[in-house]
Amino acid sequence: RTIELVKTIYEIKQLEDFPEVQIALAGRSNVGKSSLVNKLAGRKKLAKISSKPGKTRSLNYYRVDPDGFYLVDLPGYGYAKCSKTERAKWANLIEAYMKNNHQLRAVAVLLDSRLEPQKLDIELTSYLKSIGIPVIPILTKSDKPKQRERAKLQNQWKDILQQEKAPLCFSSKTGMGEDKLWELFAEYATP
Ligand code: GDP
Repeated sequence: RTIELVKTIYEIKQLEDFPEVQIALAGRSNVGKSSLVNKLAGRKKLAKISSKPGKTRSLNYYRVDPDGFYLVDLPGYGYAKCSKTERAKWANLIEAYMKNNHQLRAVAVLLDSRLEPQKLDIELTSYLKSIGIPVIPILTKSDKPKQRERAKLQNQWKDILQQEKAPLCFSSKTGMGEDKLWELFAEYATP
């Protein structure tokens, strides 16, 4: 598969009806989202690995071939030093993107496997549920915790999300979960 960045958006007014099937990627800043995109693309610098967390405020549309669907990388949330205005701007942009987007098939929500379930992540997943968009939960940096801790966290998230399947353990460092993640994306992206 190849992944290519085709479009970047900074403001609501740049959003337009996008006819192609999309899967969005969301997560707190520093969760490992750029690393995941780079890993999937097999390239080191496709998505910027943030030296300054909270800096990327754009929506990045990556085309995946030969499948033909898009991965839409959403700006990270929850950066502590973000102003209230910036936070509200994030929420408005994301809401405008997600609402009434009939081509958005699922949102992959990235969850840091080193942290207990975080309030903002729970809020996002329940919002997605309320507007009927499937959540693909992914535990990033899964090379870090011990297997037992990972399993515990998987069970916690299963309870929170009330999903039968446990979140996918992923690591950009070791490649853990990469094949499975592609399978999940393809499953949601094909009609
Ligand atoms: P983003 O802000 O969500 O885009 O996060 P980045 O991809 O920039 O990663 C944030 C930090 O976590 C960086 O220091 C990465 O090196 C580190 N990181 C990302 N993915 C992994 C992983 O799978 N394993 C480990 N051990 N560290 C990771």
